[in-house]
Amino acid sequence: MAEETVDVLIIGSGHSGGMAAKILTEKGISCLMLNAGPVADAHKDTEPKPAYALPFRGFSQPGRLPHVFQSNEFNANTWVDEREVPYTYDPQHPYNWVRVRLFGGRSLFWSRQSFRLSDYEFKGKSHDGYGDDWPIALADVAPYYSRVEAIFRVQGRADGLPQYPDGNFVPDDSPWTGCMQRFIAAGKQMGVPVCKPRSSLGVDGLASSVNLLLPDAFATGRLKAIPNVVVRELSVDKNTGRVNEAHFVDRLSRREMSVKARVVVLAAGTLESTRLLLNSKLANSSGVMGHYLVDQVYGPGIVCSVPEARDGKATPELIGGGALVPRFRNINSKAKNFIRGYALNVHSSTRPMDPRNFAEYGEALQKKLDSYNGSGFSTSIMGEVLSRYENHVSIDPKVVDAWDIPALRIETKYTDNEINMARDAVDTSIALAEAAGFEVLSKNYDPNPPGYSIHELGTCRMGNDPKTSVLNKWSQSHDIKNLFVVDGASFVSAGWQNPTMTIVALAMRASEYLADQMRQGNV
Ligand SMILES: Cc1cc2nc3c(=O)[nH]c(=O)nc-3n(C[C@H](O)[C@H](O)[C@H](O)COP(=O)(O)OP(=O)(O)OC[C@H]3O[C@@H](n4cnc5c(N)ncnc54)[C@H](O)[C@@H]3O)c2cc1C
Repeated sequence: MAEETVDVLIIGSGHSGGMAAKILTEKGISCLMLNAGPVADAHKDTEPKPAYALPFRGFSQPGRLPHVFQSNEFNANTWVDEREVPYTYDPQHPYNWVRVRLFGGRSLFWSRQSFRLSDYEFKGKSHDGYGDDWPIALADVAPYYSRVEAIFRVQGRADGLPQYPDGNFVPDDSPWTGCMQRFIAAGKQMGVPVCKPRSSLGVDGLASSVNLLLPDAFATGRLKAIPNVVVRELSVDKNTGRVNEAHFVDRLSRREMSVKARVVVLAAGTLESTRLLLNSKLANSSGVMGHYLVDQVYGPGIVCSVPEARDGKATPELIGGGALVPRFRNINSKAKNFIRGYALNVHSSTRPMDPRNFAEYGEALQKKLDSYNGSGFSTSIMGEVLSRYENHVSIDPKVVDAWDIPALRIETKYTDNEINMARDAVDTSIALAEAAGFEVLSKNYDPNPPGYSIHELGTCRMGNDPKTSVLNKWSQSHDIKNLFVVDGASFVSAGWQNPTMTIVALAMRASEYLADQMRQGNV
């Protein structure tokens, strides 16, 4: 392998790597993709097993996935085993890092909420003075969002709100259920917008890199991909300062290999891309690599019951469906104890209620559950976490993974801004629910640990100034012109929005720029 020099080496096969491969190969460029995990076998790997056939009867194996709240013994092979690829943190400030190394990465499992950032995020500092503006605006990314939305078949409704930019949607003509209409009316009274959610329909129930992006790349005949290889380090040509080689290990045989490349595109997922660069000691003349780690606050919210739906009276006209309350704080007015804002995910469901929402025990509890069955309504926050230098990752000097690659140490915590924002989200939810005539059964003010949203972003942020940013506005390293980072590491701020549409749009934009620069002989 060391004899061959590939044109572009792409590390990672998820949303971001898939988009890079599609664009570059369609522009006539040959690519090699390396991916740390195996190709999933959709038949074998999804074969249902009864709980009694599993050593832990369906529960998680202790120590294997302590931070992956979605995991159980049935789906354990989906996630990165934390004993194999550990990370460290101060036990007072835990971090939930949820990773997938299968070919296709997290695109195989995401929930598909699909939003654009607005200029309240891209130009956040201009709006409220905090942090830094991105070096790009919505107008720069909008054409790419439109193309990405077409590929992912994002369903939505145009709302005409600047903080919830409209896009190129498959129209959502679904009617509102009765409980949602009441919530909308309550929102109108209180100046809180309630909109249809937006999400990727994909194709055949999948909106992943492996079915929407990589087939186009393979069809060009210009993409080769190697699964089950873990990249440990990149090296540079001492004469030119350019990155020229990747060193990797076969996950199973542990054989060490390397490949030479003209250009390297990192798409290993925010924190793995940053870990690889930190381990390679590259592209960090600014000193900000690893810093400004952000995500979104998740957890706080309320659970309610719609009284008219109790005792078997729930109908599909009354109960069901979802809504999204886009950010409404700190747009035209100022909240008293936090900046930026949050969105609310709103759901109503005919499913049985969770017993934890009731104070009763035994027979009394069963009576309540029977009566309230099918009357559920809930809200939950998606709140912007402020971008702060102190929230950062570094290489742990003592811990390595199964292939002796130094592990990441994650040091991040939420502060009063996130806590106050979460409190406002819950109090506002209660006020809206009560105005709509619902009974509030439970409320939770406590944020889950950072990382829980599975939207880790930043750590190689983009900017115009090489002294304060790692990448330029094209996701290209300021220091090393033939190095690009196309996953969420480039984010300057998190926003409240689920990030994947932005990640994929920026990967598309960066890849087109890279193809152009290669054509002109600049890279
Ligand atoms: C359950 C769940 C629900 C989610 N819901 C939403 C949602 O509703 N909306 C939304 O916007 N986002 C959502 N997300 C987040 C979304 O999935 C991610 O933002 C997105 O998929 C990230 O894509 P990526 O390509 O940057 O990284 P990843 O998908 O993490 O892909 C990275 C790839 O790089 C490979 N890799 C890592 N390290 C190495 C290495 N050293 N060498 C070689 N290969 C390496 C891995 O094998 C992996 O395949 C969700 C995620 C999960 C898990």
